[in-house]
Amino acid sequence: MVRLTDRQMKLLGMLQSRQRISTEEIKAHFGVSAATASRDIHALVMAGAAVKVSQGLKLAPPAEVPFHEKKCFVCGGALHERTIFVVQMQDGSRRNACCCHCGLISLDRAGVQSALASDFIDGKLVDARQATYVLGSNVRLCCEPSTLCFANEEEARYFQKGFGGSLHTMTSAVKQLKTSSSTRKEKPYHQSRGILT
Ligand SMILES: [Zn+2]
Ligand SMILES: [Zn+2]
Repeated sequence: MVRLTDRQMKLLGMLQSRQRISTEEIKAHFGVSAATASRDIHALVMAGAAVKVSQGLKLAPPAEVPFHEKKCFVCGGALHERTIFVVQMQDGSRRNACCCHCGLISLDRAGVQSALASDFIDGKLVDARQATYVLGSNVRLCCEPSTLCFANEEEARYFQKGFGGSLHTMTSAVKQLKTSSSTRKEKPYHQSRGILT
């Protein structure tokens, strides 16, 4: 596991919503030198969170999930590759949710067998039951309250220290989401892609 610094986590948060950031923007936004910016870029690449491009950094390609539907089966919003939550049904079919928020609240539906959630750090799909979730942090990528998945509990804890929110196991996250009212936030990347109408 690569431990990201607070600034690198913030950079990853920015990258998650913008997809791509130039070295110049990193220098300007965080007030750091070119050497520090390139160290941060290197750290995110090593963590599997991003890939280097000529002028900076872009979000790592998502897990290979064939999209059968274009919309979240829970809220009807557009799906995004880096936050996708896959619900495996007992009949062998699969449903895709826009993010952990919608995915988790759908788990008590009849016929659900298992689920995979996208790890916040590198976008890889992990067993939803074994992941740790951060609810209500300052990093908002999809539905509210923000629900982020971490394959590694220590990373979740570290993230939560910097960005707030509360830590949950899958079961306690589901309980928490069921009791709080929630809405889907209009996401910057969906707006910029023109998917969200
Ligand atoms: Zn949804
Ligand atoms: Zn969502």
